[in-house]
Amino acid sequence: MLIETFIRKQLGLKAHTVTKVEETEDYMIIHIDRLGDRLLRCGLCRQRCRKVHSMRKKREWRDLSMRKLPLKLRYCPRRVECPRCGLRVEDFPWAEPWARVTTALSNAVARLARELSWQGTARQYGLNWKSVATIVKRAVQYGLKHRTRPPVHLIGIDEVSRRKGQVYLTVVYDLERRVLLWVGEDRTEEAVKKFFTEEMGRRRCRTLRVVCMDMWAPYANLVREYAVNAQILFDRFHIVKHLHEAVDAARRELWRQLTSKQRVTFKGTRWLLLKNPWNLNQGQKNRLSTLVRWNSPLVRAWYLKESFQLFWAHKQPWRAEQHLRKWMNSAMRSKLEPFKKFVRMLRSHLDGVLAWTKARLSNGAVEGMHNKIKSISHRSFGFRSAKNFIAAIYHCCARLPLPVER
Ligand SMILES: [Zn+2]
Repeated sequence: MLIETFIRKQLGLKAHTVTKVEETEDYMIIHIDRLGDRLLRCGLCRQRCRKVHSMRKKREWRDLSMRKLPLKLRYCPRRVECPRCGLRVEDFPWAEPWARVTTALSNAVARLARELSWQGTARQYGLNWKSVATIVKRAVQYGLKHRTRPPVHLIGIDEVSRRKGQVYLTVVYDLERRVLLWVGEDRTEEAVKKFFTEEMGRRRCRTLRVVCMDMWAPYANLVREYAVNAQILFDRFHIVKHLHEAVDAARRELWRQLTSKQRVTFKGTRWLLLKNPWNLNQGQKNRLSTLVRWNSPLVRAWYLKESFQLFWAHKQPWRAEQHLRKWMNSAMRSKLEPFKKFVRMLRSHLDGVLAWTKARLSNGAVEGMHNKIKSISHRSFGFRSAKNFIAAIYHCCARLPLPVER
């Protein structure tokens, strides 16, 4: 078989043919021409067109490599007269309309960019960072337009920080399918509103049953306004995080009151207090019991933390509620200001805290994806622009379809 025939078959050309294969030092150049008077398709609607209007100047597309040599396709595009769209550049079976690389190459690059940084992907394919960025952003655009949108019932809203907590993004997950639905800049009501109005729309919002999130007023306001059938559920992991912060604050307050001699014994107790008791080794257990005998506010904090956690195990809603109310009363009597603050927060969000017993759902289901987002940011040394970071998150977590290779 001739190399020309081989390449024509590989590219799946029907109305075009390979006229010559030229080898230069850096590239293998594939010259393409029209095949006889086979009908060309419109670049916009892909309908076959009878009339060819004119020929444009030659264009090149980078393709995958053959052994060491990268391939380049060279062709003079025709303009066709489409009965529907008018005068248009023809459709290329090997590439998307504006792309400077073939679909085969851009899909290969896009697939690798799900695993590596954009810089690393660029190095693998001998492209520059900017080309990879363009390919990924186009792939995301295509994917968002063509992805399936089944009804959504359970979602989790969370935030990711960019540049060490300076800038926030809001991410929304489908907790059932464990897939990313939406990412947006910022975490304000105005910014996150777009998820409900643009991504979901009024009709799709109606099927939402549970929305899992942190106790953050803008998110809750939006759910009340747009997802009227949904139960707000405050995320277990976020609540425990606030609880741990209370323990930590109580410990720090105490630290300030200690003499330097007392501080020596006290050092390194943070992890003793926050660890689950069954994870402690014997030495740590001994230290904890000394600590417990020695220091009463800290004991109260530790005891409160442990007894709060029993809340999650209750099966019956009324028992869970009883437990929580008793716990809140004793925490209010503890004389520990950080715990009183925590209780006030729980009280003003009580309905969404108690919803746990029925829903038994948390953003922990998508923790893996959350970590993936962190690693995306990390491997790229923190994206400088939010737009690029958002594209990378969609690309890696939203399971978007890639353009079809014809
Ligand atoms: Zn057309």
